[in-house]
Amino acid sequence: MAERARGRTIGFVPTMGALHAGHAALLDEARRRADLVVCSIFVNPKQFAPGEDLSRYPRRLEDDRALCEACGVDVLFAPGADEVYPPGFDTQVRAGRLASILEGASRPGHFDGVLTVVALLFAVVQPHFAVFGEKDFQQLALVKRMVRDLRLTVEIVPMPVIRDVDGLALSSRNAYLSKDDRARAPALSRALMAAQDEAQRGVTDIARLTAAARGMLAATAGVVVDYVEVRDPRTLEPLATLDRDARVLIAARLGGVRLIDNGPVFAGVRYPR
Ligand code: AMP
Repeated sequence: MAERARGRTIGFVPTMGALHAGHAALLDEARRRADLVVCSIFVNPKQFAPGEDLSRYPRRLEDDRALCEACGVDVLFAPGADEVYPPGFDTQVRAGRLASILEGASRPGHFDGVLTVVALLFAVVQPHFAVFGEKDFQQLALVKRMVRDLRLTVEIVPMPVIRDVDGLALSSRNAYLSKDDRARAPALSRALMAAQDEAQRGVTDIARLTAAARGMLAATAGVVVDYVEVRDPRTLEPLATLDRDARVLIAARLGGVRLIDNGPVFAGVRYPR
């Protein structure tokens, strides 16, 4: 980018569009830090498995353009699939161990597709930094790993999960939920809080923390749990006891819509009794 040569700081926010307040928070952070803010909108076919929701993924470019304008985005980059992957394109980034667990276990190849497009977009946009949401905690860990491993010269800036007033983590996929399931969906954030409450009471046994979260999910009809895990926030390795600050990660389905959420659990935090 010529702007880079002019000494301007470029901030980048890659998205798949159908933008909401979670994306806006990332764009606001980029605006605060950068001279030039680039937002990409690309529903990346390489990160969808056959039978996933590629064809019905929400596409709302005009609304997205308005949100980008409101957030002060300088460049909205919304390429077509042929532009990103021209005929003959034949290279993939292959994610390592971190991609085989949690989301990767139920979505094989997903993170290879994510890292391939992220590396490609970094090469095109040449940002000084890129903002990613903790909403996709494993994706964030994988992007950080790739940047370290491949010595990419982009700083990764994480942003906390942005939630609706009832606690549901904002997601473009929430639009798939029926009215009843939308009302049930805050069960995931309540489950995170149940695990956090246990930790704050001084419970360090991970099995008890996950049991508290599972209990909360079980209390809501229609929630089918995929996983409830407490993991090391950097390596995403399982923990037996809460001997460090950790991350609770949840995936569950509601009426066929798969939702993910996660939050911190802090070791050694106790309220006075
Ligand atoms: P997506 O359009 O779903 O691929 O997301 C694009 C970026 O926005 C990713 O870095 C996501 O982690 C981030 N993001 C999506 N939803 C939220 C949210 N509720 N809070 C914070 N970041 C989010």
